[in-house]
Amino acid sequence: MKQLVVVNVWLDQEFYQLADTLIAVLQHMDIIESIVNIPVQNPSEEEFSSADLNWTKFGSAERHDDVALIPYARVDAFIIGECSKIECPTRFHIERGRKRSKGSLKEYKNDEYLEYRLYWCSFGPENYGEGGGILPSRRYRLNTRNRAARPQSMRGCTCHFVVKRLYARPSLALLIYNDRRHVNKSGFVCHGPLDRDAIGPGAKKIPYICSEIQQQTMSMIYLGIPEENVLEKHIEGIQRYCGSNAKVNSLASQYVQKLGMIIKRSTHELDLDDQASIRMWVERNKKSIFFYQDTSETKPFILGIQTEWQLQQMIRFGHRSLIATDSTFGIKRLKYPLCTLLVFDSRQHALPVAWIITRSIAKPDVSNWMKALLGRVIAVDPGWKVNGFLVDDAAAEIDPIRETFSCPVLFSLWRVRRSWLRNIVKKCCNIEVQREIFKRLGEVVYSIWGGVNYVVALEELTQDFVDQTAFVQYFKATWVPKIEMWLTTMKTLPLASQEASGAIEAYHVKLKVKLYDDSHLGALQRVDWLVHKLTTELHSSYWLDRYADESDSFQNVKDEYIASTSWHRALHIPDTA
Ligand SMILES: [Zn+2]
Repeated sequence: MKQLVVVNVWLDQEFYQLADTLIAVLQHMDIIESIVNIPVQNPSEEEFSSADLNWTKFGSAERHDDVALIPYARVDAFIIGECSKIECPTRFHIERGRKRSKGSLKEYKNDEYLEYRLYWCSFGPENYGEGGGILPSRRYRLNTRNRAARPQSMRGCTCHFVVKRLYARPSLALLIYNDRRHVNKSGFVCHGPLDRDAIGPGAKKIPYICSEIQQQTMSMIYLGIPEENVLEKHIEGIQRYCGSNAKVNSLASQYVQKLGMIIKRSTHELDLDDQASIRMWVERNKKSIFFYQDTSETKPFILGIQTEWQLQQMIRFGHRSLIATDSTFGIKRLKYPLCTLLVFDSRQHALPVAWIITRSIAKPDVSNWMKALLGRVIAVDPGWKVNGFLVDDAAAEIDPIRETFSCPVLFSLWRVRRSWLRNIVKKCCNIEVQREIFKRLGEVVYSIWGGVNYVVALEELTQDFVDQTAFVQYFKATWVPKIEMWLTTMKTLPLASQEASGAIEAYHVKLKVKLYDDSHLGALQRVDWLVHKLTTELHSSYWLDRYADESDSFQNVKDEYIASTSWHRALHIPDTA
């Protein structure tokens, strides 16, 4: 029976559907109500797919699922096999996940999960077009003249399955797989060689460009990598799906060229008026926005940006870990300051997972966007929890953080340290003096734990360096009025580690380079420009770093990335230093 299907899928879509129905009828078995007696299947192949498993109907006559039991250790082998089926090569991504800890349930059914993961075909689930609305499937065309064409990856595919690691038997995984066909909501095959929309010269050999390759190619172009290298990587990616031939290569080259042109011609200025331009951007990028409030008489402007990829990183690296802020970036130079939320990835790099552009630090405003952000995370992973929240500004509102994330708040000294150091270097020319002032400032900070009166310590400092007029003036004007607030915050909140502070600072420096280096002054006063820079160049650079680290396909990017972690740099400090 299985063989019959394999032959038929190559013939015609209707035949395929018919055969599918036939199978369902022929294979109609009794519905079982408990999974206890389902045999565990462990195919001998290195990788296997749903076609290699026998599926059992589990549930009741009204509602039942197709299920199979496999060893938990073989889940990856199943996913790889399912991705490489010839009639529908694809990738599956985690659309939703949940976890509970062992021993947390007193009573449980035998199909209860310890870990729950919903995998969705990366050509779905939605079919996004401009405005975030759902578009009908349309012909695959490379020569599209419509610049705002939706990503070719989004085909509205409904194929998805669930992997449940069993609570009662953690060594086993229950697969639930009802929608095994790669069809859209209307029931048509929506990608792969059987997609009717893809029929055309050579189309059967050219798969849609999946979101991963598209993101990779876009990121490389945004980062200014030479076109021949972009093309090489692009073809490498496509060949994983469809093998090598001259036609594929020539189309790929056209694709990369066109994408490069579209990107080069694309502008942040969707309208001459910045506010109108931002409104249009928001309308077109709904999926990447978690909070938006336009300026009005009563409300300040707030824009919260988080791409799908950033959301995944926040879930992955933020859970039971730390979130940090780089706040008030560009407070003097940008139209509205930028606040970045960061997580620390597997190499302890600070990774931006959300950007908030606003001038307001009022409690209700902060609370609103924080709740929206947390809501977005919880909707995907209800068990998500953060262990600590690092702030870098003594004026930051702590209550909204505690109320929203229910976690301890820590304080990072990187901002004050950096600010002092920069000004010392700028305003005092003698290295010995620089060193001494910095040391003494450190003593002022540490005095708060030693019971020494900081006012006296500060007084002595300004007296001793009275000849350093530029620095003393700066310090009196900028820091004396608020030093008490900063020292109190340092004393009341636990301090973040030096590694974490170093990682936040590294992000801050990178942001500065990306934003300020090649920008003319007028741009800094436009929010649309800032949004464009963040979501294209900066996002691409972090995306590529992570991708290189995990896929091993960009060895040089990966090496640079690893070498730039503070831990790695620390290894190269000679012992005599
Ligand atoms: Zn699919």
